[in-house]
Amino acid sequence: MNQIRRYNTFSNWCNDTFGHPIHKICLDGGFTCPNRDGTVGVGGCIFCGERGSGEHVNAKQTVTEQAIAQLNHYLRRKEKGGFVAYFQNFSNTYAPVQELREIYDKALISKEIEALAIATRPDCINEEIVSLLKEYNKDRKVWVELGLQSSSDETAIRINRGYKTEVFERAVRLLRDNGIDVVVHIIIGLPGETDRDFVNTIDYLNTLPINGIKIHSLYVMKNTKLEVYYNNNEYKTIDFAKYIDLVCYAISHLREDIVIHRLVGECMESLLVAPRWEEDKNSILQTISDKLEKEDIKQGDKKWILH
Ligand code: SF4
Repeated sequence: MNQIRRYNTFSNWCNDTFGHPIHKICLDGGFTCPNRDGTVGVGGCIFCGERGSGEHVNAKQTVTEQAIAQLNHYLRRKEKGGFVAYFQNFSNTYAPVQELREIYDKALISKEIEALAIATRPDCINEEIVSLLKEYNKDRKVWVELGLQSSSDETAIRINRGYKTEVFERAVRLLRDNGIDVVVHIIIGLPGETDRDFVNTIDYLNTLPINGIKIHSLYVMKNTKLEVYYNNNEYKTIDFAKYIDLVCYAISHLREDIVIHRLVGECMESLLVAPRWEEDKNSILQTISDKLEKEDIKQGDKKWILH
């Protein structure tokens, strides 16, 4: 990492791994989630929107149509690089293995799709699924994205996550033991979370063989349980300065080899209730970058102290 690379970014990792940028083809494979259909729980995680993430994806199209439309969009713009087929909405390993194979194959329509990324829950990972992913991993880079949000089991109950952290850890080890990369999602600003809980989550992740992380801000989306809590004054969103402080802490304290894919979540404007600062992603990223520069912080240097 040189002076300019203050942290391990996704784009740097793509250039190092593939030799060029990788563009995302976001896909809705038509899955649901065991935390919504009653298998594990109902209603889902309190922040989860009606589309289970990926609200911008056109679910009226088949997976192949979604992939073609987005590939053509990039090709029209003459974007250089390759692509990752990213199954984003809901839990994308929540189906029998044969069905999973058929759905994933529908997305892998071109050799330029060099990677397959699958967002899912750790309780939807088992040995059979890992064997399938291993097959794809021979020809393409495969990574699985797991939504941990927090390492605290108390927080997990508050947000209705529906599994214990030990389940996450088992899934991480099973995937990594079989050569599949793991990217973990965490959220800043969860209800009842203290600075200590956040520090514990970062410390905990540093002990695991994970490859990447996506850091999200908790925003209130329309038609979620969190919106009800927010409207009843039972939940207060995190303020901008505190968010920046915690992100800088994470960068400074995460292991140097962990690729940081994201520093902030993204909500469609029409669905965002609060906080309004969430709308200006560029300003959030610029503020983080300015802070890192001013304080001379680099990933893994452990210099950032929480304010
Ligand atoms: S596990 Fe994911 S898809 Fe399922 S309810 Fe939670 S956030 Fe939504």
